Amino acid sequence: MIQIKSFVFNPFSENTYLLYDETGEAVIIDPGCYDKAEYKQLYDFIENNALKPVRIINTHAHIDHVLGVAAIKAKYNIPFSLHKIDEPLLKAVKTYASNYGFAGFDEPEIDSYFDEGDTVTFGNSSLRLLFVPGHAPGHVAFVNDEQQFVIGGDVLFRQSIGRTDLPGGDFETLIDSIKTKLFTLADGYTVYAGHMQPTTIGYEKKNNPFLK
Ligand SMILES: [Zn+2]
Ligand SMILES: [Zn+2]
Repeated sequence: MIQIKSFVFNPFSENTYLLYDETGEAVIIDPGCYDKAEYKQLYDFIENNALKPVRIINTHAHIDHVLGVAAIKAKYNIPFSLHKIDEPLLKAVKTYASNYGFAGFDEPEIDSYFDEGDTVTFGNSSLRLLFVPGHAPGHVAFVNDEQQFVIGGDVLFRQSIGRTDLPGGDFETLIDSIKTKLFTLADGYTVYAGHMQPTTIGYEKKNNPFLK
């Protein structure tokens, strides 16, 4: 059984997710830790629950989702994975970090690239990867069918969708990703988004003004 712990980090109020199961193995998704207190929050939770992080996996490479990757990678000596199409976005972060008020950016090395259909495993658990571009060109989502949830990044929010005005963003592509990928999941699937509270596929099919 996967447990999902969420943290809200950095000035963008980004959701960082820690997924773990009964074995204690854990994956860290989109670590956006920025200041010392945020790292401490994550590290304390891992330590207090005797967890063993095994991978860092990212939905995409915008600054708010990658701020903590390098430090966490070094602390636990674990690999970091991203879709190859988002690599230029990761490389670009250091060029704009200061524009957003961040004091520089420690760029992490990518250890492996994702592809659609990949499976991420930890402990007794697995996540299935969906390619959902539009907000970012190499955006992916992580689905667990047994427990019916998706860690969706910045694609679909409660009554909203990801912005498409950032480099590599495309509105039509985003809508297509939601309709042909996320909306093939059953109504009961919970969507854990990159910002704001969770929602469900069924609720968004009914109530999302961008998808009527
Ligand atoms: Zn984003
Ligand atoms: Zn974001």
